[in-house]
Amino acid sequence: MQTKLRPYLDTNCDENDILMKEAGDIIKEGGLVAFPTETVYGLGANALDTDAAKKIYEAKGRPSDNPLIAHIADKEQVYVLAKNVSEEAEKLMEKFWPGPLTLIFEKQDIVPSGVTGGLNTVAIRMPDNQIALKLIRSAGVPIAAPSANSSGRPSPTLAGHVMEDMDGRIDMVIDGGQVDIGIESTIVDMSGEKPMILRPGFITKPMLEEVVGEVLVDKITVIKDKSQLEADYRPKAPGMKYRHYAPKAEFIMFEGDISKVVEHINELSKLNMEKGLKTGVIATDETISKYENAMVVSIGSRTIRETVAKNLYKVLRDFDSMEVDIIYGETFYDDELGAAIMNRLIKAAGYRIEEV
Ligand code: AMP
Ligand code: MG
Repeated sequence: MQTKLRPYLDTNCDENDILMKEAGDIIKEGGLVAFPTETVYGLGANALDTDAAKKIYEAKGRPSDNPLIAHIADKEQVYVLAKNVSEEAEKLMEKFWPGPLTLIFEKQDIVPSGVTGGLNTVAIRMPDNQIALKLIRSAGVPIAAPSANSSGRPSPTLAGHVMEDMDGRIDMVIDGGQVDIGIESTIVDMSGEKPMILRPGFITKPMLEEVVGEVLVDKITVIKDKSQLEADYRPKAPGMKYRHYAPKAEFIMFEGDISKVVEHINELSKLNMEKGLKTGVIATDETISKYENAMVVSIGSRTIRETVAKNLYKVLRDFDSMEVDIIYGETFYDDELGAAIMNRLIKAAGYRIEEV
């Protein structure tokens, strides 16, 4: 299959309208279109068509029990897909949609179980991106869209990342430039007694609690140690149990006093160099000049977590193209967005965090 890579132009113009019509038609006819959202690029198909959804799983190599998020362009579409939408959920939709918040509800029969990984619940989000909203309206159906990467790889934040993984596997990629946020949506389960965060993201627990009071947190989101993961525990978001976001090289993070972390990484990089191994270091603006004997990339300033989130997956992919043998990185706990960033980095590192 030939994958069409099409730019969405900055100005309002006929070309964009023609592109949106063509892309919407592909979705309507059961094809696959990758498109930008404010979080990461999504790989879209008609969310009401099992066969189309199946193509997403094939293109990504995604396990079939890992459900998809349905993207909508108007809040009212929620009631077509979901049952028992609570007043609390409506408050969250009012406050955060369009935006990086996915809500889980009991599903209506119209949603095929091939889209929900066999669950009787459905995940729904209204993205805050004009291209995404126009595409959903042009297709005339909700669009099921997981991140547009091969399963296990870092999520795409540029159209070029999508092409790296999906060229020849899907019908079209719409290039809308770099995404704004860079990490996937916060997922909140609204189908239980109390709202529960199943995946942390840009919309944080305190932000949610300001609107609906107490919000629970699924413990999988804060697991740091692989032994806890392998204990007899089933995450509520099935995707959380899979290896994710991984660069090609081995990746280890170091936690502790930052000057000690730098010193330790420098010692390891020197040993690697002596063995003929190429080291990559994920540094920050504050530490980049302190590393030696390695390919060093800054992920942004430690004090601006939004920039770190935006650069995260790009930095992991950049190390793939530099063909390093091993990657070392610093950690980013100590605030809410930092915890969401660490949730991704820990998985990218296959749970390898060492204290120094
Ligand atoms: P992705 O779109 O690749 O970011 O992955 C979507 C995430 O949403 C996965 O981790 C899924 O497990 C989660 N998800 C989607 N639908 C549901 C659902 N009905 N219940 C729980 N988690 C879900
Ligand atoms: Mg994903």
